[in-house]
Amino acid sequence: MPKGANLPAIAAFNETVVLDAVRRSEGGLSRVELASVTGLSAQTVTNVTRRLLAQGLIREAGKQNEGSPGKPRTLLRLDPAGAYAVGVHLDPTVITCVLLDLEGEVVEHDRRPSPPDGDAKETLAAILEAIGSVLATPGVDAARVIGVGVAAPGPIDAETGVVVRPPLIPGWNDFHLRDELTSATGLPSLVAKDVISAAVAERWRDPAGASKDYAFIYYGTGAGIGLVLNGEVYTGSTENAGDAGHVLVDPGGALCACGRRGCWGESVRPQRLVMQGIWAGVLEPPGGETVVDGVDLELDVEVVDTLFTQLTAAADAGDGRAAAIVDRSIRNTAFYLSNLAALLDIDRVVFGGPSWSRVESRYLEQLPGRMAEIDMSILTHPVLLQGTAVGEDVAAVGAACLVLDETFSPRVGRL
Ligand SMILES: [Zn+2]
Repeated sequence: MPKGANLPAIAAFNETVVLDAVRRSEGGLSRVELASVTGLSAQTVTNVTRRLLAQGLIREAGKQNEGSPGKPRTLLRLDPAGAYAVGVHLDPTVITCVLLDLEGEVVEHDRRPSPPDGDAKETLAAILEAIGSVLATPGVDAARVIGVGVAAPGPIDAETGVVVRPPLIPGWNDFHLRDELTSATGLPSLVAKDVISAAVAERWRDPAGASKDYAFIYYGTGAGIGLVLNGEVYTGSTENAGDAGHVLVDPGGALCACGRRGCWGESVRPQRLVMQGIWAGVLEPPGGETVVDGVDLELDVEVVDTLFTQLTAAADAGDGRAAAIVDRSIRNTAFYLSNLAALLDIDRVVFGGPSWSRVESRYLEQLPGRMAEIDMSILTHPVLLQGTAVGEDVAAVGAACLVLDETFSPRVGRL
């Protein structure tokens, strides 16, 4: 849990204990079950559930044990309309905004391009417009919106909600995002790193029986890693865990901003693959620009996005030069993931993020074989590879989940 979030407690401790138990149950719990699960007395459970019902956070939803001996028990479930959280994903290319209900379902979403050149003022204005648009959803009581979570590229200062120095977007350096949002919306806000938010969303939707040790590979403008270890999202000592960009995977590969060749992040970054596509003559340089082999063009994010779609489509359509470029990034990812899986003993890797859908079929087809080649020396167990269950909005959904967690999860610190 991000320690810098500091959203106000809107429910007393015992209420959060009961809410949390109801939230984690499938299909609801009776008062008797709640007493047993929480360790609270029957009288306390009765009092607490009465208050939660009055606040509209839970509802009575059918009976248990009907037709069998003994009194049927009323099941209690969350009231989805009891509270809402806003989640925003700030990406160099696109601003995604979702409204989640108390059960964690997306009730509305909005997507718009990020202002060009990363101007902080314009970015803030666009975020506020996106938030305004999801809050205007018919049937949503604005008074029940409890906060705004923002997933942003790291590094971030979680204590102060400041975006510190994201690579690729100098305009966001020292962007006091949390305070600006709180003063503009009047809602408590938090800022979390995008890859960590994505892992939070994935963890929230984990199917029963899914493994509890896995990595979430977030593939957007760059690539990063969210870790779920022992069932908990791992945030690290400053809540900036997940930077794996400069791990060397391809000696002699692409030149990275750090001055070395073959860093994993650089070797899979869509802009890098697009430049390789232009050099190889697979892609037309935009606006008839002159291309010198090995020298990067200044490309803005939308152009990269369009060309990346063309490159991956060409690879899928059988263009050998395009396929070689994409497949080299898959081989590099396989090498990196084999090492990661061996280091952490994880047995599952989940992929997602805005650039993922364009490479999904190729990755899932090739990665198992590529990893198996490497596994001979490193890994002793198979690793399940899959796409996210949450969809393209995964980081925005995770940021809103963090708001719900921060508000409704019982923590000793609240006592
Ligand atoms: Zn590097």
